Amino acid sequence: KVETDNYYIDREMVAGLFRKREKFDHKGTFGHALLVAGSYGKVGAAILSARAALRSGLGLLTIHAPRCAYEILQISIPEAMVSIDRHRHYISEWPQLDSYDTVGIGPGIGQGQMTKEAILPLIESAEMPIVLDADGLNILSKNPDYFGKLPANSILTPHPKEFERLFGPTENNFERNQLQRDMAARYGIIIVLKGAHTCIALPDGNCYFNSTGNPGMATGGSGDVLTGILTGLLAQQYSAQSAAILGVYLHGLAGDMAVKKLESHALVSGDLIKFLGKAFLSLH
Ligand code: AMP
Ligand code: MG
Repeated sequence: KVETDNYYIDREMVAGLFRKREKFDHKGTFGHALLVAGSYGKVGAAILSARAALRSGLGLLTIHAPRCAYEILQISIPEAMVSIDRHRHYISEWPQLDSYDTVGIGPGIGQGQMTKEAILPLIESAEMPIVLDADGLNILSKNPDYFGKLPANSILTPHPKEFERLFGPTENNFERNQLQRDMAARYGIIIVLKGAHTCIALPDGNCYFNSTGNPGMATGGSGDVLTGILTGLLAQQYSAQSAAILGVYLHGLAGDMAVKKLESHALVSGDLIKFLGKAFLSLH
């Protein structure tokens, strides 16, 4: 077992990580991310993730999606480029990774056989920290020999159910937290266990507990928005550790700002994206 410390993520910590834009910055400064997302009936997850990535300040975004998503994505997100899969309904391949600074994988991809056969080698091919979420995690949980093939410092964002699929059941939250630290350390990855107090376990086994967020965020697509934010921050060359802390905090803060205007019943995950700008502004 790893000896570790706990930290509480507050505004001061996050403001210290945040980098303002400088006068001579250009889009090349902020990186190019690839987002692998969407399948027939779940293109919305790709849209939410992509919009969140764009609102997090990356330079360029390419979405790799099945053919059925082509027009939907080009019309709803003119800021993004689209890489189209040969398959109509599911992801079955991926573009060359050379030109990308990071890859976000998972929102809405499903767990079909051909998607699995594309995602597992993709994970292995990446040579930079990636973000893995949703069905990307579910695919990984059925192929545990791939844990050791994840690029160092990759960020995994399971909710409690996905965490259990990945790492197995535990008796209580204390045990689950210990398991989370142990797995982060064993595989050299960052595990973001999402919930009311999202906990980020780093490869050194230290844990960071988030202070923002509210039950209004318990609604479909909230997690997809977080995946987009983290992918957007990684593209900008934030360290994976800084991206995780900054991204989780801003995601929750956008939720707290949204709920003040909308009340928690009416909040939908797209609102988180609308309030991201205000959340960033509060760090200036
Ligand atoms: P997912 O289950 O993948 O859609 O992710 C849900 C997102 O919303 C995670 O980032 C959670 O931390 C956040 N969230 C859900 N419920 C709550 C809650 N009761 N309080 C704070 N954040 C929440
Ligand atoms: Mg999710």
